[in-house]
Amino acid sequence: MIDACSLDSKRLLTLQEALDNIKANISAITDTEILSLQNALGRVLAADIYSPINLPFDRNAAMDGYAYASADSNPEQDFTLTLAGTSWAGKPFTGQLQPGQCIRIFTGAVVPPEADSVIMQEHVTAAGQNIQFPVNSKPLQNIRKAGEDIQQAELLCKVGRKLSTYDIGLLAAAGVAEVKVLRQVKIAFFSTGDELTSLGQPLVSGKIYDSNRYTLGGLLTDPAYRAIDLGVIPDDPQQLEQQFTKSAQSYDVIISTGGASVGDADYVKDILARCDNVNFWKLAIKPGKPMAFGNINGCHFFGLPGNPVAVVVTFRQLVAPALRELSGTNEVKKLRLKATATSPLKKSPGRQEFLRGICSQNDNGELLVTSAGGQGSHILSSMSRSNCFIVLPAECSGIQAGDIVTIEPYELFL
Ligand code: AMP
Ligand code: MG
Repeated sequence: MIDACSLDSKRLLTLQEALDNIKANISAITDTEILSLQNALGRVLAADIYSPINLPFDRNAAMDGYAYASADSNPEQDFTLTLAGTSWAGKPFTGQLQPGQCIRIFTGAVVPPEADSVIMQEHVTAAGQNIQFPVNSKPLQNIRKAGEDIQQAELLCKVGRKLSTYDIGLLAAAGVAEVKVLRQVKIAFFSTGDELTSLGQPLVSGKIYDSNRYTLGGLLTDPAYRAIDLGVIPDDPQQLEQQFTKSAQSYDVIISTGGASVGDADYVKDILARCDNVNFWKLAIKPGKPMAFGNINGCHFFGLPGNPVAVVVTFRQLVAPALRELSGTNEVKKLRLKATATSPLKKSPGRQEFLRGICSQNDNGELLVTSAGGQGSHILSSMSRSNCFIVLPAECSGIQAGDIVTIEPYELFL
């Protein structure tokens, strides 16, 4: 492990340096499992999937109407063909179409080989078995060719693909019933701090409710992860050490919040300092300065700050990319956009800042952003109100109304 910056060092680590270090120390899990398609949403493919069939499977009608051979049509005047039968979706016409004949056909029904055109039913006049086609009937229309969507043996989804709803639909259409995926990333998370009270307990002075575990539980909700909430560990070195040792045996990743800075009760740091493979970083970001990253007996460890908003920022910027890497997906979903600030934003040069913002769109489609309120790292009301981070570079010394800023929408990020 590159010891990019130790706790005692004065130098602050940039987000990019931290991310590079994390990525250099993480590789995707390799264990696989076979899942039925309906259980595979959000899972990461372990192998390429090729189509076993042509899609569409048959040449079929794109409209309800009448199928006929273009050789029977007359571009100059109207013409009449004799009805020879019907091709239903799921029940093809079994006869042979003779010259001068047409068949009734419905959307999705197989077009007989003798026909190459379908006319919409609204365009013909049917009188018993005689179907009258109007002048200027356009032949060679309304037919879906076999394989025009996907050819047999064509690549449907690539290894590393995190299966979307639409991938699942595509695979189902191609008849793929089971998929080989990478197993879920096993993640344990817990909070540390003597002040933490669990929900359902009355709050006494000096204590606070533990919110970080709930936020983390939400951030870790992803079919590619199996995240287990280990509760609250008090500021007790023995209990903490026990938890780390035990969890490292059964999980790929441990995430803790709190206790990673330099306070007297920050035992996380003391315990992990005994491991060779754990770095303590002071990051050049706000909020979220102190953080630990390393490896305990093969298990990746992220010691996030205790302050609730710092948890969100460090998770989204550093832990989420690491988990994606571990899960085996090759997709990057981080979307940053430009928006016009509608109010001034305070900032001192030095650290990259993540401000909670509310992004909206005006009638011209332009993105606007305003501060969501208080920006202290303990202020959860603005976190809840906000829908994006406003990302201000380290050197920025404040924003005026009308300035263009970078935003990172929450919803499109993970
Ligand atoms: P620490 O990093 O342990 O020094 O904590 C920094 C701040 O975050 C303190 O004000 C803690 O009370 C608060 N904090 C730590 N853990 C949590 C938690 N799980 N939920 C809410 N606040 C927390
Ligand atoms: Mg603490």
